[in-house]
Amino acid sequence: MEKLNPFEIAQEQLDTCAKILNLDQATHELLRRPMREIWVSLPVRMDDGSTKVFQGFRVQYNDAKGPTKGGIRFHPQETIDTVRALAAWMTWKCSLLDLPLGGGKGGVICNPKEMSQGELERLSRAYIRAIHPFIGPDKDIPAPDVYTNPQIMAWMADEYSKACGKNQFGVVTGKPLAVGGSAGRGDATARGGLYTVREAAKALGIDLKGARVAIQGFGNAGYYAAVLAQSMLGCKIVAVSDSRGGIFNEQGIDPEEAKAHKGKTGSVVELAGTSSITNEALLELDVDILIPAALENVITERNAANVKAKIVAELANGPTTPEADDILYKNGVHVIPDFLCNAGGVTVSYFEMVQNFYMYYWDEAEVHERLDKKMTVAYKSVFDTSKQYEINMRQAAYVVAVKRVAEAMKLRGWV
Ligand code: GLU
Repeated sequence: MEKLNPFEIAQEQLDTCAKILNLDQATHELLRRPMREIWVSLPVRMDDGSTKVFQGFRVQYNDAKGPTKGGIRFHPQETIDTVRALAAWMTWKCSLLDLPLGGGKGGVICNPKEMSQGELERLSRAYIRAIHPFIGPDKDIPAPDVYTNPQIMAWMADEYSKACGKNQFGVVTGKPLAVGGSAGRGDATARGGLYTVREAAKALGIDLKGARVAIQGFGNAGYYAAVLAQSMLGCKIVAVSDSRGGIFNEQGIDPEEAKAHKGKTGSVVELAGTSSITNEALLELDVDILIPAALENVITERNAANVKAKIVAELANGPTTPEADDILYKNGVHVIPDFLCNAGGVTVSYFEMVQNFYMYYWDEAEVHERLDKKMTVAYKSVFDTSKQYEINMRQAAYVVAVKRVAEAMKLRGWV
């Protein structure tokens, strides 16, 4: 049976890298486990007057290179192992982009779709009250992730600021512009990912004009990926999906129409002029570029051989299992691995932190230019490493990222 526990997968990926780098045993062992985990119980007054107790986590995986950084997910299927894996991947992501940050992640088990705005606000504030001693602008800096958004970040920054008796906007990133957010943060994950797609297409000699794109997931990352793949790269979006199903149109789908339809009905499915397609079938479409932009473990040993895309751009965290990685590599599919492809989000988060510290804000063009530079350099270092070591792109990303964290740990005298 294929292993689907995200943390075991993250550990297995690291083990492969440890072999390639010939890591010493202590370094390997430290990198296999989180530095610190915080488990919290959150009593929240619900609209009907009852009190519900939610379970929350914050995993601070490794801070050798700087304060820990990473988003918070609100999800009914959240588990400590998912958060651990995501925290590990944040560590590699920040290192790969050469940010002076470590990695962390948070999660709360809840179903935001069934909660009112008031309940979400009280839950967000309760979470920050509970983890307040362990976070801070120079300690651990949360951000949005699955089912959390700029409004939630604003409540969280406010709750932390109140506890400190002064404004501390820099404690979280991904905030709205009016309360210390950065220009360009909204679409940063997708934009950064598409810069890497552009570089991949150059390296592989693929023409992006009119290239066919399928996107799984229509949240923040998926929606902006659709918009920018069309407007910035000139691609054609032939399929998109969300948790309720997908839509297909050979002639192309207008991302704004899909968004408006989702706004009205709660889903992209049944958008006029499109045919229905399952999430599974979307992954196997005959397209040039496949963008998983939802959750973990969607490309597995069961369907990897059926993936026809030339480029798989992983905007989601952990969409591909190690078994599937081997199959894709053998079949010549070029995978832009998650912690490279989706690093645009945390990179602009880092820019947001810098602007918060400086109390001086950049315009959008400056953010785009700096993001492009960071993503392009990271892509090239991974691509070159994959050629040099004759390994796949994920293993190459691990080699670049883990080397830097290991060096920091050595210099600090930890190992
Ligand atoms: N949640 C995003 C990620 O997985 C962004 C994290 C951040 O901005 O700190 O990379």
